Amino acid sequence: GTLNVTELAEKLGKSPNEIIKKLMFAGVMANKNQDLDDDTIELIASEYGVTMKKEEEVEKSDLLQYIEAEDEKKLKERPPVVTIMGHVDHGKTTLLDSIRNTRVTAGEAGGITQHIGAYQIRTEEGKKITFLDTPGHAAFTSMRSRGAQVTDIAILVVAADDGVMPQTVEAINHAKAANVPIIVAVNKMDKEAANPDRVMQELTEYELVSEDWGGDTIFVSMSALKGEGIDDLLEMILLVAEVEELKANPNRRADGTVIEAELDKGRGSVASLLVQNGTLRVGDPIVVGNTFGRVRAMVNDLGKRIKKAGPSTPVEITGLSHVPQAGDRFVVFEDEKTARQIGELRQQKQLEERRGEQSKVSLEDLFEKIKQGDIKDLNIILKADVQGSAEALAASLMKIDVEGVKINIIHTGAGAITESDIILASASNAIVIGFNVRPDNNAKKAAETENVDVRLHRIIYKAIEEIEQAMQGMLDPEF
Ligand code: GDP
Repeated sequence: GTLNVTELAEKLGKSPNEIIKKLMFAGVMANKNQDLDDDTIELIASEYGVTMKKEEEVEKSDLLQYIEAEDEKKLKERPPVVTIMGHVDHGKTTLLDSIRNTRVTAGEAGGITQHIGAYQIRTEEGKKITFLDTPGHAAFTSMRSRGAQVTDIAILVVAADDGVMPQTVEAINHAKAANVPIIVAVNKMDKEAANPDRVMQELTEYELVSEDWGGDTIFVSMSALKGEGIDDLLEMILLVAEVEELKANPNRRADGTVIEAELDKGRGSVASLLVQNGTLRVGDPIVVGNTFGRVRAMVNDLGKRIKKAGPSTPVEITGLSHVPQAGDRFVVFEDEKTARQIGELRQQKQLEERRGEQSKVSLEDLFEKIKQGDIKDLNIILKADVQGSAEALAASLMKIDVEGVKINIIHTGAGAITESDIILASASNAIVIGFNVRPDNNAKKAAETENVDVRLHRIIYKAIEEIEQAMQGMLDPEF
């Protein structure tokens, strides 16, 4: 074990008591000083949507380790972050628009709505709520698959005239998998065919039982179109938020998640971020996913330029070297040098991973790739001791006739196989055949790092036979 209960609680920004409770539910009795094994740590962390790597797996490029442990005493209440989910056409977009408009009545007009992937409203009592602007569970889940959990509360919109539909069930499962509390919004109550009882009945099958029926799920009846029930819904969101005790420490360097990002012609890389902890400031050195920079300009969801943004605030920033991806984590660093170092390290690692992913052609798995339709051309680079034999071999290879694949000789030459042959092969996904020649030392090294298949022969018919067999899936395994 590497952490005890108190240390884990600190890392997760939770109280030791809460962790002890979680452990109890998981069947582990522990006190505050109990050491936990890696599996238990991972399990508990994952309950909070945090991926905890085992000590030896942590690398310098891992962003999360740079988030300093939280001091429980410094935590303050923060606004809830809400996602709206439900079946298509049940009114998610209408609801999002309708809620956004309530801000106007709250006297915060003045800005022009700016779509930055999320927006924040202030209720009449002065409480803030943040809504993610992309309805549906696709975005929710793709973020989660990248280890990011931004949603505190899910609103499940169900049209009262349509009831529970396939995507309603999907949404429920996604919210449950993420351990996110659900509020049911029974929408389209203005319609004549509205049948809220049926919705309630159908949802009992998914363990969403309304309080009226003795359960503990909050149901709100509404008409997103007419703006009815919005205030009730907002009130219920705040109620659930209170129960969840959502907290963050505004007085520290910020971290959070990318909501969306794009390349803007004029402004360069533009990223919408949700600050989840700390306060983000203009000028902050920042690592975002595999990119980095300094926060150059920051605007809020009303298009207003702001200088700082606290927990649960969505902002749009410029100043990054590249475009990050939705679901990427961001962390602010104390100084630009470190941010640059970590950012470059992460870029480097990403490049290496990509290189590894893009699986190179090799004779070993050629047949598999042909079968799966991944390959239609076998690209070959041919080097021989003299140009004449290179051309003779090329002519013979071109005659091989196997259905579903075509041979392309993209380069022939005389002399040893060089590094530049390997680079060319790598870039064009080719294999290299050497006839009476060998790779020099640099080529050998390059072939290894670039993962290029190099085949050496001294007899023409053997070279042809090998390619033929590989194309037919009859190659003997190499020892
Ligand atoms: P989404 O696919 O879940 O985002 O659904 P939309 O918000 O696009 O709504 C689908 C359709 O239902 C649109 O024509 C809306 O005008 C309509 N709609 C949404 N909410 C209500 C409502 O409360 N009452 C009625 N009568 N229609 C609604």
